[in-house]
Amino acid sequence: MGMKPFPVYAEQMPGGAMIATTLETILYQGQAKSLWYLLFGTACCAIELMATGASRYDFDRLGMFFRASPRQSDLIIAAGTITKKMAPRLRRLYDQMAEPRYVIAMGGCTIKGGPFYYDSYAVEKGIDHIVPVDIYIPGCPPRPESLLEGCIHLQEKIKKQKLAEKWPKA
Ligand code: SF4
Repeated sequence: MGMKPFPVYAEQMPGGAMIATTLETILYQGQAKSLWYLLFGTACCAIELMATGASRYDFDRLGMFFRASPRQSDLIIAAGTITKKMAPRLRRLYDQMAEPRYVIAMGGCTIKGGPFYYDSYAVEKGIDHIVPVDIYIPGCPPRPESLLEGCIHLQEKIKKQKLAEKWPKA
């Protein structure tokens, strides 16, 4: 059974012009411009992540603010080596976030195990079998510019999103 179409809202502007939009558009435009993120930094990539949040690169200008609680976060940025012991914690934090929620995998270790891919029995070879990943940012480590670009791509992806795509069974 498909989703019901969303209601269209109309607002009359001074001079008589009309603006029409949908609840879906308001929801996703708003979320894209105010992504609150949870840090899951575990190794060297986390240093670049922290630098991105500091004054030189200034994450805040994209409407992105760090939160210490998954309950207040829309986005989790995983940066660094993820061990098998840590994987259930990552999943639990993800599960504690409210929908719609997003994941960025930052750096070679998070994406595919990085330099530990062949020789470590203790490292996860990619987090996308623990949580669904929306954006991958390769590098060892990726520079803050790469992370900023990845976040802008995520914002664009959110703005174009349809509720039926995020929740196909709704
Ligand atoms: S990808 Fe490279 S810089 Fe990032 S955590 Fe792994 S080893 Fe460190």
